Amino acid sequence: MRFRYFEGPRTEMRGALKTPEKCSYCGVTAADVFRSGERTPVGCYSCLRAGRFGFFQLTDAGYVDASGLRVEFEEADRRIEFLRGANGAITARTILGREALTTVTPEAAYELWRTPDFPTWNEVRWPVHCREFMTYLGEWKPAKFESRNQFLAMTDKRHHILWPAETRPAAWGVTYYGFKCPTCGAMTGRVDFS
Ligand SMILES: [Zn+2]
Ligand SMILES: [Zn+2]
Repeated sequence: MRFRYFEGPRTEMRGALKTPEKCSYCGVTAADVFRSGERTPVGCYSCLRAGRFGFFQLTDAGYVDASGLRVEFEEADRRIEFLRGANGAITARTILGREALTTVTPEAAYELWRTPDFPTWNEVRWPVHCREFMTYLGEWKPAKFESRNQFLAMTDKRHHILWPAETRPAAWGVTYYGFKCPTCGAMTGRVDFS
């Protein structure tokens, strides 16, 4: 399985099933199968990539679901809409309103919808960079960082207290998610309190 926006371990793919199951969309029994929500049918990797189903995603650009990307608390015309073809797959997408007003491209929104998300304790939004989404790299412990400077550069100021001095902390009582922009390589992290 390959995803532009998910390079974390398979164990951090929310909804990835541990044993092969029959896909509800194509009928094939596959090892790479997902249940994208509690009451949604099982779907395989091929059908996910073909747009037969997808994942609800919270992002810094709004939320993504089967209908497209919608921006909350903004003027109603900041919206990217996915269009469904006759076979149920999404074959095109259109932008309602001016493209210049959206912070990500329609291709990026469509790509993220066809990407598994990662389990969190609280609401964690997928970060945006270079008009697309950043790639999820997985949960990062202090040992994963090259240096404290890298941690400081990647992390919001209010969380700098997690690594207060030059000495690397052995552990921290939060979950830290690492991300990298697939376009320019910029890195960032999001902190989640359990
Ligand atoms: Zn399938
Ligand atoms: Zn970037």
